[in-house]
Formats: sequence, C-alpha cells, structure tokens
Amino acid sequence: MNPQLHFDGPVWRPPYEATSQLLQVTAGCTWHKCKFCTLYGSHKFRMSPMEEIESDLKVIHFYQPRARRIFLTGANPFVLTTDRLTDIALLIRKYIGEGKPTIGCFARITDISRKSVEDLRQLHHLGFDYITIGVESGDSETLARVNKGYTAEDITAQCLKLEEADIHYNMFYLVGLAGHGLGTRNALRSAETFNRLRPASIGILSLTLFPDSPLYREVREGQFREATEHERFDELIGLIKNLKCRTHILGRTVSNPVPFTGFLPTDRSKLLHDLRTAKERLSEEQLRAYRNSIESL
Ligand code: SF4
Repeated sequence: MNPQLHFDGPVWRPPYEATSQLLQVTAGCTWHKCKFCTLYGSHKFRMSPMEEIESDLKVIHFYQPRARRIFLTGANPFVLTTDRLTDIALLIRKYIGEGKPTIGCFARITDISRKSVEDLRQLHHLGFDYITIGVESGDSETLARVNKGYTAEDITAQCLKLEEADIHYNMFYLVGLAGHGLGTRNALRSAETFNRLRPASIGILSLTLFPDSPLYREVREGQFREATEHERFDELIGLIKNLKCRTHILGRTVSNPVPFTGFLPTDRSKLLHDLRTAKERLSEEQLRAYRNSIESL
C-alpha cells in the first residue's frame, strides 16, 4: 500500500477542525472571484477521481480506522452533486465506518442553493454536519463590492434550508471588508441577517490583503480605502452588541491582533469590555504594524 495521501495545492481548514482527518475530494475553488482572496493562488478547481479518494481511504483505514471526524478539503467540496457526495460518504462508511465519523467541509452559499432540503437531509443522514461557510458579511452591498456572488437574502434562504435539514453550520465574518467608513453599516446589517439564523459559531477574521488580490490592487489605485484598525474594533463591537442569536464567537486566528472567544449572549459584556480595552491600549500604528507583519493566513 502506498501510504501517501493525495493533496494538490494549498490545503486550508478551520481551526476547530484541527483534529479531523483530512480527505481530499476537491482542490481549489469553483468561484475563485472574491476580490480579497489569495487562498488558492493560481490553482484551478479539481475534483478528485473516486479511485483516488478510495485509495486515500484505504490509507486512512490503516492508520485511523476509528476516525471520528473527516474534513473534506478544497474551498467548496459541497459544490459536488448530492449523488457524488453520497458516494463519497458511503465510501467513508465502508472504510472507516467503525468510528461513525461525521463529515465536515467548506461550502459556498451557492453550493447549498443547488440542493433541495431533501438532498440536504440525505447528506445529514450520511454524516454531513457542522459545515463551514465563509459568508464574510451579511450585507448585500459589501458582498457585491467584493464579488462574493450572492446576497444577504441568499444567505438567509440557504442557511434556513440547512436548519430545516438539521445540518449545523459555522460561519466566518470578515471585519474590514466594507472598507473605510462603512464598517458600522456592515456590522449592523450583518447582525440583522445573522439574527434570522442559528449559526453554531461565527468565526471572526480581519481583512488582510496580499499583493496578488484584486482588492490589494484597488487599494494601490485608490479605488478601495482600507478600514483603520480602530475602525475594525468599532465594527466588531457593533456586530457583537447587535447579535441576538445564541452562538460562539471565535476570534483566534492570525488575522486578529487581539484574540477573543465567547458565547453569546452569556459572554457579551466580557467580549465588549475586552475589545474596548484593547482598542484603548493599542495604538493604530502598533496594530497596523502587526497586520503588516502577517506573511500568511
Ligand atoms: S473566498 Fe472562498 S469562495 Fe471566495 S474565491 Fe476565495 S476560496 Fe473561493
């Protein structure tokens, strides 16, 4: 047996999937048009052949026969058809069914829109749960500005379908995405969108642009003005103040100059206090120097 798993190009996974067994079923992103994104570079979307997935599962069976959680890699494996995802889930069951693993992956909102609630129920029954959606914002104007390819209404409609099918989901929100002067609007409108939903967690990232992204070029050409670091604290405070859904707030990535986590509503006061204190304690220059030092997300 060849003990080598197949991985093509960069592999990203959310921090809470750190102990999950990775399985490549796609590589790259089908959309590849978000203006701030450099995650997959020039790598084109690729779907793994079933033989390749099966060969990796044989390796996993050998080393991790009782794996409890499988994370399918690629920017949006949920784009695969329900039939294909069903075949993959059945293969997972065949090789590592002993541990009754659940299956997670990244999904785009548009991937969910292609599936009926019935499809989603079937996938949930086969183990799909706690999928991760980088919605980035719940404000249609911000989403359009950075070319996310869906609206706030789409987020609501598709996430409600997941809820109807009992699939839990985690979201990511990207602070600073609306640009200078628009963070508060983005936060308030996003809170309004998220308040209609029940995300298991909202991960907080802060916009960090790298030279290959179209938005970086727009900054250089004066078409997009980045939010200051202090503005980002105000945006985040606005978001947390206005979120009424019960959810975990997770802000512990390299893009957050000050790490924070908490559960809403229980930890709201503490989170707001910590963020306000951090804003007072750290100067704009210190925070910007930190952001400029980030070499990779
Ligand atoms: S942010 Fe996600 S959906 Fe957008 S281009 Fe990057 S990987 Fe694709």
